[in-house]
Amino acid sequence: MKFAEVAVDAPAGHGRTFSYSIPDHLDIVQGQSVKVPFGPRTLQGIVFAVVDAPQVEETRDIADTLSAGALLESHQLSLARWISEYYLSSLFESAALMLPPGGRFRPRTFYSLSPDVDDVAEAANSPHQQRFLEYIQRHEVVDAGRLNRALGPNSRSMAARLVERGLLESKVRSSSRQMTHKLVEHIALNPEMLEEIGVWMKNAPRRSARQATLVDALLEADAPLPATETRKEFGAHNVARLRERQWLTITQQRTDRDPLAGQMFAPESAVSLTSQQQSVTDAVCAGLDHPDEAPRTFLVQGVTGSGKTEIYLAAVERCLELGRRAIVMVPEIALTQQTIERFASRFPNRVAVLHSGLSAGERFDQWWKTREGDYDIVVGSRSAIFAPMPNLGLVVVDEEHEWTYKQQDSNPRYHARDVANKLAELTGAKVLLGSASPDVSSYHRSLAKQYGLLILPDRLSVSKNGKPTPAPLADVDIVDMRQELKEGNRDMFSRQLDAEMEACLDAGNQMILFLNRRGTASQLQCRSCGHQMRCAKCDIALTYHRRAGRLICHYCGTRHRIPERCPQCLGYRLSYYGIGTQSVAEALEQRFPDTTVLRWDRDATRNIADYRELIEKFRTGEGQALVGTQMIAKGLHFPSVTLVGVVLADVGLSIPDYRAGERAFQLLCQVAGRAGRGERPGRVVIQTYQPDNYAIQASAAQDYQSFYNKEMAYRRERGNPPFNKLIRLLHTHINQATCEHEARAVARTMADERDARGIGSIEILGPVPAYPARLRGRYRWHIVLRGPEPRALLDHVALPRDWHVDIDPVSLT
Ligand code: ADP
Ligand code: ZN
Repeated sequence: MKFAEVAVDAPAGHGRTFSYSIPDHLDIVQGQSVKVPFGPRTLQGIVFAVVDAPQVEETRDIADTLSAGALLESHQLSLARWISEYYLSSLFESAALMLPPGGRFRPRTFYSLSPDVDDVAEAANSPHQQRFLEYIQRHEVVDAGRLNRALGPNSRSMAARLVERGLLESKVRSSSRQMTHKLVEHIALNPEMLEEIGVWMKNAPRRSARQATLVDALLEADAPLPATETRKEFGAHNVARLRERQWLTITQQRTDRDPLAGQMFAPESAVSLTSQQQSVTDAVCAGLDHPDEAPRTFLVQGVTGSGKTEIYLAAVERCLELGRRAIVMVPEIALTQQTIERFASRFPNRVAVLHSGLSAGERFDQWWKTREGDYDIVVGSRSAIFAPMPNLGLVVVDEEHEWTYKQQDSNPRYHARDVANKLAELTGAKVLLGSASPDVSSYHRSLAKQYGLLILPDRLSVSKNGKPTPAPLADVDIVDMRQELKEGNRDMFSRQLDAEMEACLDAGNQMILFLNRRGTASQLQCRSCGHQMRCAKCDIALTYHRRAGRLICHYCGTRHRIPERCPQCLGYRLSYYGIGTQSVAEALEQRFPDTTVLRWDRDATRNIADYRELIEKFRTGEGQALVGTQMIAKGLHFPSVTLVGVVLADVGLSIPDYRAGERAFQLLCQVAGRAGRGERPGRVVIQTYQPDNYAIQASAAQDYQSFYNKEMAYRRERGNPPFNKLIRLLHTHINQATCEHEARAVARTMADERDARGIGSIEILGPVPAYPARLRGRYRWHIVLRGPEPRALLDHVALPRDWHVDIDPVSLT
């Protein structure tokens, strides 16, 4: 008798496996997806191990298989274990990240009236039962969740009783759409009829000319032709005629839905690298050649346009030469079309893409083809790290500082970069991180020699003959908006930005106006002196809560009255921020009526296709100005953009978060990198009320070092990462008072536990309302644990339901 250790998709997640016996008729292997009984239900499970002895004496049988053979490799099971332990998520959830698209089995119970029931009123025992049965009769088939919503929380037991009495029937089905390979009808000539066909062809009647050409086409084709296209070309009735004569065979052939199909990529050969690029590439390649002598992870730091992508391409090439494969991660696929194109044209037909912008069918096919070894490279967003890539040799993480690499809204709340490091450890692969403005924690690790640090100091300008030379960075000017106000300019645009815009348009060039919309209208600032209301204890911007009529520090919880006058200059001109892309676009059109303004934001542009269309319009010169949020700051290359304006840099600085400075720096660097990428010089104008802020100053100089030094000094002073670890505990509830009450109770328990155990090194910050304080109808409060090992506390305090644990949160808002 064999047994299986199975991670089960139980409603209350478990960080462990359960033992099941393997019945004789089932062949079960490690990594397989199965159905198992769990309590009264049948749930999905993933087999972590096949063993000789169970953990418990009594075991139940595995009910059935859900996959033919293994879906997860053994290193993926190890990765799932690590994710579950590190991020405190359930083992099943962690392993489910690596299932193929459509691989989740979510059983749902559906109820319908039993055919034996003629008269509902007669069958029912009570008016309540009658209403219940009538509801189901009216809707024919109703699932348990809908019953719950329509008829209240007791509906499940009521339904069970009615099933027992034979009045209702229940069926369990998986709610997730079952996906399969796409089969497409193909047509060929029936080989047994060739003789007859040949005879007919010799003197085919003239009116059957099209049938004859169809036969010719089928004779010439070396493989069956797709039926739909053939019918279209030769006429459905002609196909039908030949079929009637038994001259055709129709087969179903697997066709892959390929997201890159129909997109033509001119094959591109490798460029010859500059000497700086060459030495960086040599270091990475040496690491690939001699893995044991090199660090597991490299960090390439270089401003935008310094040629980092060429390094990735060269490293991937070496990886493939060594017979291994690569995963390339990009922060957000819509914005990184250009990166995908560069990989697809350098490595034609060897690139798979995996991201949420694909159709379910495309994702399914790309996953399976990747697993079958049809591709050598996967390019994708966060979840691409879980691609079933055999023989992995390299993981590239482009823009490694990007927050999109952290899964924030659902469990497991993993960081793809940290998962990449772990995966590399398990597979012997190398990790290559790249950024113009690395996460200070990554840079810190590089300085501590945990990562290999590689620097590309120059921005490249590529001349017409393709030769790269070091290029100056765009000139960046910081405009003090307080001064503008003082001198009577109340416009959105400073006089300098106005003049630059005019010059840019006159010269026939293009410009981008950038707006950071995060935090809009939630911070309070003095329009006279630029002073921003900040928490005295935490030095982060206070957030305005309309309901409470207070300014609240989202870090320590201190609440402040809204001042009437600015505490600094005693002026009365306090205002909440609130500009959007629309008002900027309108102001621009008013000022320059002949200019075509293109606008991008989440409201105006909903999907990837719209986004691409807009970018294409701008690229082909259909518009002279592009206005947008941070999305346009990323990865795009527009040679004829000579001016970038940041309408108000302050908004980024005001995120109520200890990482606001870092984020603002990163965004401003990216924005500045957009200007002057062609042969014409570029100019950047940053408007701000805080011209002396270190993040703004450092980004204007594109000086990462000076930013890093200042930022680290602040982090050390306040005990923030990388000097400590953070854990965020988020509680959500539909009732505000309950939410707050429970958050306070948990914080108290934590504090008691900490004091009782004498682990004084853990600070408990909060509880405070999270930002936004209410999301999708639920109130949100959070507690932040800070210390060298804050997890220790979680081992001792069990969190009630409706709490989410976020290890290493990227944001505390
Ligand atoms: P980054 O990824 O750092 O922003 P890229 O790799 O995109 O930089 O390089 C910027 C531009 O310079 C790209 O158009 C790229 O094709 C070009 N480029 C980079 N290195 C070279 C090189 N050695 N020879 C020719 N062109 C290069
Ligand atoms: Zn505070």
